[in-house]
Amino acid sequence: MVKYIAHIRQKQGLSPAADSQINTRIRTVSALEDLYMTCKEISGMIPAFFDDTLDNESLRVFLNHLDRCKTCREELEIQYLVIRVFNHMDAGGEVNLSRDLPAYIEQERRLLLKRERLAAAAGMMEIAAVITFVITCIIFMM
Ligand SMILES: [Zn+2]
Repeated sequence: MVKYIAHIRQKQGLSPAADSQINTRIRTVSALEDLYMTCKEISGMIPAFFDDTLDNESLRVFLNHLDRCKTCREELEIQYLVIRVFNHMDAGGEVNLSRDLPAYIEQERRLLLKRERLAAAAGMMEIAAVITFVITCIIFMM
């Protein structure tokens, strides 16, 4: 959807004012896409969420959706219980849903923040490496 709008915008060569208006719209559409990513898609991501195999973008969308969708939070609770109860890892251990699940979600949220910061830092280092390379080239050509 966002790509489609960008495509149309490119084709029409709009004025800066119209452009910024469209940017605002695109942000709204993106937010709506996050929000209305279907509950079916979100609940399909739950096993990956517990396996900790979601990529940063998916994890962000997933957590945002959970913040706003009671249905998916309930689905998450059910799957969490199923995993905990049937997982031999937790044999004998009691499951405290109202304590353990929010703790797990919080842990994933912090993990996401950490990974996003790491990705940003890696990006900066890449840029620094390119700049160093360019400067070295310039020096050698002089
Ligand atoms: Zn939902």
